[in-house]
Amino acid sequence: MSQTSVQNSARRILVTGATGGIGAAISRKFVDEGDLVFINDIPNRISDLEQLKFELSDGVGRAEIVTGDVGDPKSVQDMMQEISASGDSGIDIVVNNAGILSNFLVADLDPDEWDRIYRINTKGPFLVSKYALPLLKLSAFPSIINIASTGGKRGSPTKSHYGSSKAALISFTRILAMELAGEGIRVNAVCPGVVATEMGKNNIPDEESLQKVYDMTALRRLGEPEDIVGTVSFFASQDSAFVTGQTLNVCGGILFD
Ligand code: NAP
Repeated sequence: MSQTSVQNSARRILVTGATGGIGAAISRKFVDEGDLVFINDIPNRISDLEQLKFELSDGVGRAEIVTGDVGDPKSVQDMMQEISASGDSGIDIVVNNAGILSNFLVADLDPDEWDRIYRINTKGPFLVSKYALPLLKLSAFPSIINIASTGGKRGSPTKSHYGSSKAALISFTRILAMELAGEGIRVNAVCPGVVATEMGKNNIPDEESLQKVYDMTALRRLGEPEDIVGTVSFFASQDSAFVTGQTLNVCGGILFD
């Protein structure tokens, strides 16, 4: 990791699962705003991370690569050590974006697959938040943003493991917000609807499923990764300084609560 400086007002932001559709769009937004973004993904995504870093090199800020598995405590601790060693300040914003999805009816769902989904979607944000805390405490305006899902509120058949892992993340968001409010660390969550990323597209195998998504989405279109970015940017900014423990649906009108 190089130590080239960015502008003084630059925030230090960690985005997990950054090579995915939504993570890359979030990273782009922050780099364009002049921030230093630590882009994370699993080590075997290193060539995608290098490509993303290259693509972001025309931004006002810059990106640095931090590989690691969000589901592994040692790996997450190593990530924090690497970020800590890269400068004399901590982390201002953590975006817990890494997530995975699979589709199985409960009757066919292998217990190990249940654990695999929870390990990334629920334990991952717990581990990253926990081990980022000492670095967040060095920030003047610290904030954690969890990327949950409308699946964590409504859900659908074949996604019991995914939906409940995201419901747990929404609950974790509220409770962590309560625990950290006294230290000025805000914690909020975003619930995307169906977004046109690898994950989103894998979930829409044919025209019939695409039509079903249109039918359940009031705005009658898929979300684009860029649709999620504005809310993440808001939660990261001081415009939301009095907002914590909240979950906002960014779903084109799948949910109305
Ligand atoms: P994506 O394109 O599949 O990106 C997710 C990224 O996370 C991938 O690069 C993935 O790598 C990475 N990742 C997986 N395991 C990891 C680990 N252990 N440590 C670090 N990174 C890891 O998915 P996306 O659509 O952008 O999703 C981003 C977030 O939005 C997820 O939390 C997802 O649940 C949520 N979301 C998405 C939608 C949607 O429709 N797309 C809807 C609601 C919520 P691999 O590809 O190698 O696994």
